[in-house]
Amino acid sequence: MFSLSSGDCRHVIVFDLEWNQSSYNPNHRMPHEIIEIGACRVDREYRIVDTFSALIRPRLYKKLDKHIKKVTGMTEAELENGGTFSDVFADFAAWCGEDTQLITWGRDDFPVLRRNAAFYQTPMPFEPPMDAQLVFGGACLGSCHQQMNLHAALEHQNILIEVPAHRAVYDAQCTAAMLRSIDEAVAQLDEQKRRQMDATIAREKRIASSMLRSQPTRYGYQTDLLADEQLMNIPCPKCGRRTAFDTPWFDSGREKYLAIASCPSHGFAYGQMHFKRGSNGLLIMHQRVYSACEEEVQDVRERYRLYLITPPRKRHHRLNMEEAVRKNESGKSETKNQEE
Ligand SMILES: [Zn+2]
Repeated sequence: MFSLSSGDCRHVIVFDLEWNQSSYNPNHRMPHEIIEIGACRVDREYRIVDTFSALIRPRLYKKLDKHIKKVTGMTEAELENGGTFSDVFADFAAWCGEDTQLITWGRDDFPVLRRNAAFYQTPMPFEPPMDAQLVFGGACLGSCHQQMNLHAALEHQNILIEVPAHRAVYDAQCTAAMLRSIDEAVAQLDEQKRRQMDATIAREKRIASSMLRSQPTRYGYQTDLLADEQLMNIPCPKCGRRTAFDTPWFDSGREKYLAIASCPSHGFAYGQMHFKRGSNGLLIMHQRVYSACEEEVQDVRERYRLYLITPPRKRHHRLNMEEAVRKNESGKSETKNQEE
């Protein structure tokens, strides 16, 4: 459950990141480059007992995005004094200590952190964080899918906190200031709501551990790309080894491809894929793979069944597929009736 005081991790760290990007010339291995890590350590009563703040000197995107410059007040000159990602990340991990429960506001920070760590081939010592925004939505707004930005959420809870700018360490402090009231709201939930929230949290943690793969390809047509066995292979999200397909990649409607693969040691993996066309006219592939739960495996198998019985020219739209299944099923029951 969310309550941190009942958790058994030794350290509870709230963290936030600032990152920069380039809309003109993004590097697909690291589209978002972290420029600041800010965090605070809280005790069991959610009091801040220590803070961490460090700038990172960018290697890919040296020019700050206009919007980021405006909201953070950062300058390129300031970032030049930052440390390298590898050094700052190692300092941060050492500061956190072993056996740490991370908390963030929102689901974006951890995947960006993983991707930056992977880019610099730095090991990732953390498990996915608890998403305080999701728990806040579930406990205070009636649904985990209700997302509110941090400052609106503070206002919603009547928490007054003055911060000088939108910077990582201040945002971490604002998140920390929310925790007690979120925890109190969770304690008020009935049994069913709590179970739903637990299930959503577990799913989000699996998604946060996704393996993301974005890469430009040499293909102009989807059919050619889909035939490339090496690109279509799904690595196991836990061990990275080759998996076997349970259902192959198929168009689930609206250009989103799905697949289920299985690793002999780690069970099922859920794959999502879509394509975009690059400025050179060739396709860029985006894949997301994470450990699948039983329901997701059944869901994708069912959709694949729909796909197979839908006439190819109608497959581009999911509603068509559902219609095809209805027809197929009513067709079946008619034949059955005739037999009787
Ligand atoms: Zn595996």
